[in-house]
Amino acid sequence: MFDNLSDKLDKAFHILKGHGKITEVNVADTLKEVRRALLDADVNFKIAKDFTARVKDKAIGQDVLTTLQPGQLLVKLVKDELTELMGGDVAGINLQGSPTVILMSGLQGSGKTTFSGKLANYLKTKKNKKPLLVACDIYRPAAINQLHVVGQQIGVDVYSEPDNKNPVVIAENAIAFAKANGMNVVIVDTAGRLAVDQEMMDEIARVHNAIKPQETLFVVDSMTGQDAVNTAKAFNDILNFDGVILTKLDGDTRGGAALSIKSVVNKPIKFVGTGEKMDAIDVFYPDRMAERILGMGDVVSLVERAQEQFNEEEARKLQKKIAKNEFGFDDFLAQIQQVKKMGNMKDLVGMIPGASKAMKDVQIEDDAFKHIEAIIYSMTPAERKKPALIDVKRKNRIAKGSGTKVEQVNQLMKQFDQMSKMMKMMQGPGGKNLMKMMGG
Ligand code: GDP
Repeated sequence: MFDNLSDKLDKAFHILKGHGKITEVNVADTLKEVRRALLDADVNFKIAKDFTARVKDKAIGQDVLTTLQPGQLLVKLVKDELTELMGGDVAGINLQGSPTVILMSGLQGSGKTTFSGKLANYLKTKKNKKPLLVACDIYRPAAINQLHVVGQQIGVDVYSEPDNKNPVVIAENAIAFAKANGMNVVIVDTAGRLAVDQEMMDEIARVHNAIKPQETLFVVDSMTGQDAVNTAKAFNDILNFDGVILTKLDGDTRGGAALSIKSVVNKPIKFVGTGEKMDAIDVFYPDRMAERILGMGDVVSLVERAQEQFNEEEARKLQKKIAKNEFGFDDFLAQIQQVKKMGNMKDLVGMIPGASKAMKDVQIEDDAFKHIEAIIYSMTPAERKKPALIDVKRKNRIAKGSGTKVEQVNQLMKQFDQMSKMMKMMQGPGGKNLMKMMGG
């Protein structure tokens, strides 16, 4: 995501390299590049212009003559300013009210229904809530079915009244149903049209007035660029919504929407959707997104994911084994499984600074560990425990059994050997080891 913009900004900062200080002249050139990069990324012209003007003021105003690396200072200024542009702090979701009522708005195809499911799943699994999903699309029976399918997938109840043509009544009945059945969050998925039209706006405004939601969220497809900003404005005029959900950020988006929406409607982006699956939802962190745009990678998210999978007791056991030289292929396999739980390799690589750019043209297999696992599974328990047993003859057998080449087995043995040595040196398993493993 945002690869284009990162590339462009990289070039822009390059101009500054080799200059000892920031001057009115060299900063102007760089900022022109920055502005062009933002415009190319579909950022609104006025926003891009204001943006670079602010950065320039700050750069010139500072005591930059003593700064050794003006390029770095500018990167920081641009990053801070980008963070600000996308909302500054993390915007949480308001879960007050019993039940909390959340109204979803947006065009058809924006990902409303999918996101309703993701949010319900998120609140259920991460916030210990008991959500109810409500199908309020009275025009498309398929939409009602879709929500039922989603609900079933995540184990969340879905309320619908297929024969009722009044969405206000359906929503009100659903809230009463939630109260009667101990559900504490009601997520109302509304009807969407392919373009903004008066009838739809009137309808959602009526639902909004009747149920007075704690959170009204506007869902927008980030691939739609400037159109996303216009649609956001139209919905905000009617609903004065509380937050924005940017979906399909896993796609080939230019990123302009994330940068512009906040400034145009002055509402925070709260979550992003990064895939079709129910767990492809992330809280939107403006500072992390800014870092990502600048090619610094989303290291914090990566570390958090590693921590989520990190089990202290297991780590202690592992540490003992390493100390006693008992670390074997079964332990290696367990570590791989941990890494895999963190997400697919493509996503993980995207979070490593510089990696997404460096590996842009490299095909990353969905299951990068497939061969490694196959090789280990073809070893006998004794071999897994004591890799030193594995001689040439055994290597041949293992390669045959796993459908790999002897060279691949050799390579794995070598990696394993290096890793064991490294781990012994570090004497600290867990997150650090996971990171090293991912690096190779
Ligand atoms: P709705 O009409 O607004 O309810 O939109 P849907 O929830 O039906 O989504 C429209 C399409 O976009 C479906 O094919 C979804 O699977 C897909 N979709 C939704 N969110 C995401 C996302 O974050 N990433 C990707 N890649 N696809 C998504």
